[in-house]
Amino acid sequence: MAEREHEHVRVVVIGSGFGGLGAAVRLRRQGITDFVVLERAGSVGGTWRDNSYPGCACDVPSHLYSFSFAPNPEWPRNFSGQPHIRAYLERVTDTFGLRPHLRFDAEVKSARWNTEELYWEIETAQGPLTADMVVSATGPLSDPQIPDVPGLDSFEGKVFHSARWDHDYDLRGKRVAMIGTGASAIQVVPAIQPTVDRLTVFQRTPPWVMPRADRKITRAEHWLHTKVPATRALRRQLLWGIRELQVSAFTKRPKELGLVQALAKAHMHRAVKDPALRAKLTPDYTIGCKRILLSNSYYPALAKPNVDVVAAGLKEVRGNTLVAADGTETEVDAIIFGTGFHVTDMPIASRVTGANGTTLAEEWKDGMEALRGSSAAGFPNFLTIIGPNTGLGNSSMILMIESQLNYMIDYLRQLDLLGDRIALDARPSAVHAWSAAIQQRMERTVWSTGGCDSWYLDKNGRNTTVWPGTTAEFRKVTRQVDLAEYQVLRAPARTGNESTDKTVEAAA
Ligand code: NAP
Repeated sequence: MAEREHEHVRVVVIGSGFGGLGAAVRLRRQGITDFVVLERAGSVGGTWRDNSYPGCACDVPSHLYSFSFAPNPEWPRNFSGQPHIRAYLERVTDTFGLRPHLRFDAEVKSARWNTEELYWEIETAQGPLTADMVVSATGPLSDPQIPDVPGLDSFEGKVFHSARWDHDYDLRGKRVAMIGTGASAIQVVPAIQPTVDRLTVFQRTPPWVMPRADRKITRAEHWLHTKVPATRALRRQLLWGIRELQVSAFTKRPKELGLVQALAKAHMHRAVKDPALRAKLTPDYTIGCKRILLSNSYYPALAKPNVDVVAAGLKEVRGNTLVAADGTETEVDAIIFGTGFHVTDMPIASRVTGANGTTLAEEWKDGMEALRGSSAAGFPNFLTIIGPNTGLGNSSMILMIESQLNYMIDYLRQLDLLGDRIALDARPSAVHAWSAAIQQRMERTVWSTGGCDSWYLDKNGRNTTVWPGTTAEFRKVTRQVDLAEYQVLRAPARTGNESTDKTVEAAA
């Protein structure tokens, strides 16, 4: 075989958050060591590295929001904070010997499928390489979104996004605007309210907020979970099972959420005594349509005398004055955007060019779709972890990631069985059928019928982010690669200078 002039690996994993690190562990456990993990930053952790804002924590219990193969008997709280989750991911990296595979400051600039050689050509900030397979684990919450607000450039104060917190900026005594009331903002607000002079919250749509059953996990529990691992496994099973039982209310019977909505209303009534403020904070859509948020401190913080809620989005900035859509004007020293991420328009998609010479972003311009959440047609040997319709509203994303990693391992196994210089390309008919079935199930869900707009929906109003079933069902449908859903691409073996014509054969 001709010597390659560039570095070639079997698998390139992009990103070192939960998805990328999980992929690395599973590859090594499968005996595959010829892979690299490309990370644009200087350390692992993904969204749990980047989101270091005050109050940042996970609202899925840690015993469930962790890898099944890397249990941690010593989680400090039910809902761990960002520093603990980030430290957990650093530990996973060391425990599973992932460091030799990591390339930091190696942002992927482009990835292009070579239709002759049947491999990916990848340009990174550290130089080029090629790979038989790419596993894109960049995550949906990696690129912050700041709305295009007229006049923002002219603002002379401090501006940053919750996922790019400026820890050098002292908020003490400042007049601060918090833009947005999503999962990030409702954690930031109570954390900074005691510090700032005035806090103005720009709320375009009120969220439904439920109590957060958080507490310290006791030393006795740590001891028990360490000495009797079955107790830890049982705890995880219970946390998982409760959430599985909730799914049908979201996906089939939104009316069943009425009781939950009443509990959320009571939660607000307990903390907010001012009827005018309560009116502003009461959503006009069914609970669950947007992500249900958990907090015991958000409503009490809003009721404090140094906090104002403007029940309108930010429309314009004039000098240091923020103008809301309802005309309210507020002068501030700093603006914090808690305005979410590029989810349905993830930037990596515009850097990946497939077999037809088009980018993933171009293919997805009318909506993302990928077979079993992983494979887009025309992008052979390219898997997306947390791809289209793999998100969850109420349970742990780690469960979905691990199911997709099962799929990845079976994909590699199938490639091995098929022989050398082989690629699998999802058949467009299989991808469309998968996506059409999901969209049909979507019609009954609370995300479609609940009367809200959310980041689950793309610009055409299609829900291309959430999985409309249980995590058990997703695990089942991703257990194995069904070869009938793929075209097998075969390149002739290289012998000296012979042609490398690619042949396409129909799968069995
Ligand atoms: P998000 O849920 O997308 O929320 C963005 C917020 O910004 C929304 O309230 C949105 O209002 C608002 N917004 C956008 N443009 C605005 C404007 N011009 N003026 C005023 N408000 C504006 O983003 P996020 O809070 O960062 O959360 C993203 C996801 O990250 C979550 O859904 C969750 O999956 C995850 N997360 C989880 C946790 C946790 O586990 N506790 C914490 C943080 C994040 P509209 O509602 O009107 O669109």
